Amino acid sequence: MVTADTLLKKIASVNNSVINSYDLTQNKFGEEVLSINLRPDKNHSNRCPYCGAKCPIYDRSAYPRKWRALDAGGIIVELYSKTVRVCCPKHGVVTAAVPWAFHDSGFTKDFDLMSTYFALNINRSIASQIMRCGWHTIMRCISRVKKY
Ligand SMILES: [Zn+2]
Repeated sequence: MVTADTLLKKIASVNNSVINSYDLTQNKFGEEVLSINLRPDKNHSNRCPYCGAKCPIYDRSAYPRKWRALDAGGIIVELYSKTVRVCCPKHGVVTAAVPWAFHDSGFTKDFDLMSTYFALNINRSIASQIMRCGWHTIMRCISRVKKY
C-alpha cells in the first residue's frame, strides 16, 4: 500500500524530496488548493543551480517560497519550501537549486514543460486558460525550458 507522502509526490511530480506537511484549503476564488510543504532530500539539498556542486550554506530564507505545480484533478497544487543560499566556489552566493523546479522559476519543471508544449502546439489563449496563467507567464516558462 502506498503512503500519503508517496502519493503526494506522484501527484505533484516531485522526486528527491521529503514531504513535511500538506493541507487542502480554498483560495479567495473558492478553488481548492492542495498545499504541500517539502524540502529537498539530503542528497539534493544545498546544490549550486549552475554547476550542481554541493556547497556550504550562506544563509536561509525566513519564509517559505511557493512553486505552482500542475493541477491535479482540477485542484490547484502549490509547493512550499524554505530556501537557502549557498556559497559556490565557482558561482558565488546563489539560491540553492531545488529538484522540482528550474532555477529562478515559481513553477515546477513539469509545469514549465507542459506550458511550453501547449504554447508550441495549440492556440495561445487556450494554453493560458488550460494552465490558468497569463500568456506572458507561459513565455517565461518557454525561456526557462530553452535554457535546459
Ligand atoms: Zn556553482
